[in-house]
Amino acid sequence: MANGETNLHEHLDRVLFDQVQIRDRVAEMGAEITREFAGEPLTIVAVLQGGALFMADLIREIRLPLEIDSISVASYHGATESSGTVTFHQTRMPNLRGRNVLILDDILDTGRTMRAIKDKLRGECSPKSVRSVVLLSKSIERAVPIEADYCGFAVGNEFVVGYGLDYQGRYRNLPVIGVLKEDFIE
Ligand code: 5GP
Ligand code: MG
Repeated sequence: MANGETNLHEHLDRVLFDQVQIRDRVAEMGAEITREFAGEPLTIVAVLQGGALFMADLIREIRLPLEIDSISVASYHGATESSGTVTFHQTRMPNLRGRNVLILDDILDTGRTMRAIKDKLRGECSPKSVRSVVLLSKSIERAVPIEADYCGFAVGNEFVVGYGLDYQGRYRNLPVIGVLKEDFIE
């Protein structure tokens, strides 16, 4: 490409979901959440960094008053498989007392991250309810039996990047979701 640009799309073996598919599905999810939380005090808690893009798009499809907050965890530590431990990065927990909380993450894989966050928020933040929304869910037998209350798309047992999802900190800004070519995985 000209001007020193990198075409990140060329790093993909294949695209699973393009921008239109993502936009349409996120709009459907927003409509469903709007119906189900109408009249309730809703706080969306995004799991950073991966949930950032999904959060930004989803909240604009929810036609309700809501608050947003975030928490930061890591479980992959730069690899392409979950390490099995969930590390919480922040010292301050969000103020969720009496609120209906919707934990928002990019992808549900082993289930460990969602389980750990749900337990921590329930134990430490006195919310009225805790539910979860993920853009993607891997169709696998989970290490921890947990499913999301709202899910955008099912994916197979492969490592995906784009639309917030990274490999070693990169590819989050790719507007589509896809599978990396072998050449780009160390
Ligand atoms: P779990 O704890 O369910 O195994 O993993 C959830 C977290 O691992 C997600 O928040 C996400 O950060 C990361 N993760 C799981 N699968 C993938 C994947 O296919 N690609 C990327 N980039 N991250 C993933
Ligand atoms: Mg994550």
